Amino acid sequence: MSVENNITELRKELPSTVKLVAVSKFMPNELIMEAYNAGQRDFGENRPQELNRKMAELPSDIRWHFLGHLQTNKIKLIIDSVSLIHSADSLRLISEIGKEAAKRGLVKDILIQQHISSEDTKQGFSSIEMEEAAIFARETTGIRVCGVMGMATYTDDMEQVRGEFRGLRLTFEKLKSTLFADDRAFEHISMGMSGDFPLAVEEGSTIVRVGTRIFGSRY
Ligand SMILES: *Cc1c(COP(=O)(O)O)cnc(C)c1O
Repeated sequence: MSVENNITELRKELPSTVKLVAVSKFMPNELIMEAYNAGQRDFGENRPQELNRKMAELPSDIRWHFLGHLQTNKIKLIIDSVSLIHSADSLRLISEIGKEAAKRGLVKDILIQQHISSEDTKQGFSSIEMEEAAIFARETTGIRVCGVMGMATYTDDMEQVRGEFRGLRLTFEKLKSTLFADDRAFEHISMGMSGDFPLAVEEGSTIVRVGTRIFGSRY
């Protein structure tokens, strides 16, 4: 299957209200352009230098999403180029993004990352820390909180994965009703990857981040 076909097939599986971010980390420009030519405009990367290089070489109407753990000393590299940072995973990072954005007269869109998996390698706030993080982010100049993000456990146990997605959705709904009821920008639940996006969509995802299913294996 070609990248173009993969995109077309994937779109058929997604409700029109769910945004598809094509995760293009490690993928060459030629493959990204195949997706672009199939109409794809949202792409996700997790390394600042790679993102910047691709942004310089590829069409300017691409919206770049930052997905990986972001070190505070790398914020400067991507702050002008990314449309949405999915991985705000510490108060310090949120504060520093706000500071860099404010310096430039920008307001940066972020999602607050919740640690929903049972693996301890993945970044993010615990479910109980999410409220404090959301309040902090809401009060930070230069930041606009657009929702939440999470990565489920890498497992075949789909009931576990479903439960993790459901937990993220519950966090979203709680924050929405308590802190962001009047804030239309707070609208996104970024969850679902190649192996689990159908479940994520069933559980209320509004943004899926899909790499392998589009571009093939990275290894
Ligand atoms: C790599 C990555 C993805 C895409 O994973 P696939 O399994 O290739 O679809 C999604 N989200 C994040 C945060 C990633 O790092």
